[in-house]
Amino acid sequence: KKSRLPVEDYIDGVLKGDRMVLSRAITLVESSLPSDQMLAEKVMEGILPYSGKSIRIGITGVPGVGKSTFIENFGKILVERGHQLAVLAIDPSSQKSGGSILGDKTRMEALSSDKRAYIRPSPAGAALGGVSARTREAMLLCEAAGFDVVLIETVGVGQSETAVKGMVDFFLLLMLAGAGDELQGIKKGIIEMCDALIINKADGSNVEAAKRAKREYANALHLFPAKENGWIPQVKTCSAIEKSGLEEIWTMIDDFRDKMTKNGFLESNRQEQRVNWLQEHIRYLMESSFFHHSQVKKRMEELLPGIKSGKFSAIAKARELFDLFLKNRGND
Ligand code: GDP
Repeated sequence: KKSRLPVEDYIDGVLKGDRMVLSRAITLVESSLPSDQMLAEKVMEGILPYSGKSIRIGITGVPGVGKSTFIENFGKILVERGHQLAVLAIDPSSQKSGGSILGDKTRMEALSSDKRAYIRPSPAGAALGGVSARTREAMLLCEAAGFDVVLIETVGVGQSETAVKGMVDFFLLLMLAGAGDELQGIKKGIIEMCDALIINKADGSNVEAAKRAKREYANALHLFPAKENGWIPQVKTCSAIEKSGLEEIWTMIDDFRDKMTKNGFLESNRQEQRVNWLQEHIRYLMESSFFHHSQVKKRMEELLPGIKSGKFSAIAKARELFDLFLKNRGND
C-alpha cells in the first residue's frame, strides 16, 4: 500500500493537473480508513474553490446498449474540440464478485491512452456511504485538475442512477430500439429523470426501427409533466459505432448549458445538490460511527436472537441501542 502525501502535495498536484497525484487523491477519498478520511477532507477543502467549472454529464443504460462505445467516440469528438474529458465509471460489480465489468481492458481503449482524457472506475462503494459518496468527490477533484467535461457512467440496472442524477447537470439515457413495448426493461423513473433519451445502434438494418422508436419515445415523454427548468427532454438517435449523431448530442448539451446558465437553473440545481451532499454525508458519518461503535456492536449481538425470533420489539431495541450510542459516543 502506498504511503500518503502531505495535504499540500495533493492539492498542488491536483491543481497542476498531475494525473498521478489526481489518481492518488481519488484513491485517498475512496479510502474508508478514518485517518485517510481526515486527510481527504482537508484535500477537498483545498481544491473546492477550483472545482465546479465543468459541465457534468451522467450517462446510463443497460449493459450492451453501447455505453463504452458511445463514451469512446463521443469522448474523442470532445477532446478533438479542445476539451479535457474525465470519465468516472461507476462499477456496481466491483464490490460483489471481484469480477469487474470495467476490469475488461478493452473498454474505451483509445480514450484510455489519450492524454486529453482521464478514465477512472469508481467503486459502487460499500453499503455505508452509498454509490455517490466517493464519485462526487472524485468529480470535484477532476474539475480542480482542469477537466472541463466530466462524464459519469453508470449501468442502468440499480440504484445508482438516482445518485448520479443528484450530482450531474445533464442526464443522458442510452436505449435501444426494441421489439414490442418500447418502454420495456427500463424503469419509468429513469426515463422521467433524463434530459435526453438517445436511441443507439441506429445503423444498418436498424435505422428504421430506431426512427420509429424515437417517435414513440418522443410521444411518451410528452405525457410527463414539464420540468421546472423549462427543458424539454430530447429524443435522438445515434450510432456510437459509426459516430453518427454524436456531434448533435454535444450541440444539444451545449444548448442545455447555455439555457440553464441563463435561467439560473444550472446554479440553483447545484446549490440543491450541495445541500443534499451535506445531508448525505451527515447520514454517512452518523451511520458509520453508530455501526462501528464497540458497545453498540456488542449489545447488538446480544439482542439479535431476540430480534430474529420476534421476542423483542425492533423499534424499542433500536431506541435502546441509539440511547446507548448517544451516552457513550465520546468514549469508544
Ligand atoms: P455497454 O455494455 O453499454 O458499455 O456496451 P458496449 O459499448 O460494450 O457495446 C455492446 C456491444 O454493442 C458491442 O459489441 C458494441 O460493438 C456494440 N455497439 C455499440 N454501439 C453500437 C452501435 O452504435 N451500433 C452497433 N451496430 N453496435 C454497437
